[in-house]
Amino acid sequence: MITESRTIQKNKLSNNLGDILKNLNEKNIHIEQNAKKSTARNEKKPEIKLFNTASKSKEIFNPISKKNVKIYACGPTVYRSPHVGNARSFVVFDCLFRLMKFYYPKVSYVRNVTDIDDKIIIEAKKLNIEFKDLTKNVFKNFKKDCADLNVLDPTHEPFATNFIDKIIEDIEILIKNGFAYVSDDNLELNSNGSENTQGNSLEYKTEHSSKNKNENKDESNDQNAFIKSQDLCKSSSIDLKSQHVFFEISKYEEYLKFSGKSDLLSGARIEKNDLKKSDQDFVLWKPSEDVYWESPWGRGRPGWHIECTTMSKSILGFPFDIHCGGQDLIFPHHTNEIAQTWGMCQKKCANYWIHNNFVNMNNEKMSKSIGNTLLLKDVLENHNPMVVRLFLLMAHYRHPMNWTESGLDEASNIYKKWSKKLIGIQPGNPTEEFIEIISDDLNTTTAIKKISKDLKSLQNEINKSGLNDQKEIDSARRTESNYVSEKLCRIAANCSLIGIIFEANDQILTEEIEILIEKRKMFKKEKMYAKADEIRDKLKENGISIKDTKNGTEWEKD
Ligand SMILES: [Zn+2]
Repeated sequence: MITESRTIQKNKLSNNLGDILKNLNEKNIHIEQNAKKSTARNEKKPEIKLFNTASKSKEIFNPISKKNVKIYACGPTVYRSPHVGNARSFVVFDCLFRLMKFYYPKVSYVRNVTDIDDKIIIEAKKLNIEFKDLTKNVFKNFKKDCADLNVLDPTHEPFATNFIDKIIEDIEILIKNGFAYVSDDNLELNSNGSENTQGNSLEYKTEHSSKNKNENKDESNDQNAFIKSQDLCKSSSIDLKSQHVFFEISKYEEYLKFSGKSDLLSGARIEKNDLKKSDQDFVLWKPSEDVYWESPWGRGRPGWHIECTTMSKSILGFPFDIHCGGQDLIFPHHTNEIAQTWGMCQKKCANYWIHNNFVNMNNEKMSKSIGNTLLLKDVLENHNPMVVRLFLLMAHYRHPMNWTESGLDEASNIYKKWSKKLIGIQPGNPTEEFIEIISDDLNTTTAIKKISKDLKSLQNEINKSGLNDQKEIDSARRTESNYVSEKLCRIAANCSLIGIIFEANDQILTEEIEILIEKRKMFKKEKMYAKADEIRDKLKENGISIKDTKNGTEWEKD
């Protein structure tokens, strides 16, 4: 990206700006007056409003600390490429992250990775590969998809398997506080890995095995904690009995408050299990024979709900500002996170809960059983990722959206129209009106309409003024300051606030590089060597090497 270098270029080009402005003034004085008005305006940011699932109302966002806004989003379970419904979450919460970054100096944004789960184990078995090879590969592809969709990296991206020790500690706290219980079962794993159900309870151990602690010490070396049961059976004679640990929901009086459910049996898949005190109690730890960690309850692995609670507690602390996720996570996942947080430290988990709605396929809910799920990787193979992103943002995040080819075509047409004007334009400051729209509960639907409307009215102004629009756009690309240029820079900034960018084509890039080389030559001539070097360094940062030769300066892409 050459955009940063443009600032240098812009300053030094200022000598020419007077002429350009004069020229414009002669053509259209009222346009110039409007420009002055807009730059002189005091651009105070409006309040951010978010619909909070906890209060079921739109609230003004007040962070716990303005110095560091803390957000947690439930991330992918890395067993296969996400479907477009998952992609909607990533894109919507990326817009929230961008908005918060625009308002606050620091935003801690955690998006976890669930890298241990039944689905992962089943998929790895099906493919006949190690689960860690599967998760590593799926995660790599997920990151590529995110980059294509211009989804920013979160500030923290923890893997559940790096937190097993902390998860065990948290389960112990829940047991100690009376919110969780160890089941009466015990499963005895024999040396070939199969389970035998035993009638007697095991004594509850309070210390983790030293083997487990050592293996989990290095958190950066993710998934090192994975132990193959066969290896352990060969090398050790340790106790192979395992137990379940359940969260006892009757111990948390406000369990139903968050979801607004009147009873526990509706809507959720309840796992029947004779070992539970109540069918609705949920698992914190369960025996596992294929992939497991040593614990006070024998070999096993954590339940999904406790993973998120431990990661958010460890990285952000309770309460944090915003917890995000898909609407399907309200119950039971987020309900259980709230219960676990309370059981652990009698605190709220988060102050604001933001949930996005589903993506339907031809007006039918996307589901594996109907066979109409659409994987993101397949969509990105056939469509420009920016068009996909735009399409995902065209419906408001709290409304269901319908995935159709005609919808994608519409997004593609909008993107083409925007690109014509905005490709190669360096974003300036977003407009007040746009900030107000996007701050109002991330209203991307209206935001997108606003961008189209602003480009259209700018075009009308250009037409009325008798200006040549292509000339104006080219001049804006060269960051020459004039009314049209200023407008385009601000519209480009509006796009950028919702993560829509425009790839510069080779012709524009070449033009930019040559302008910079020319500026560098001028700096050298004026003995402003630091400035000249700055340009060279900026080009280098952007993968362009320059070489001074007898015939002048030559450049090439690294
Ligand atoms: Zn979660």
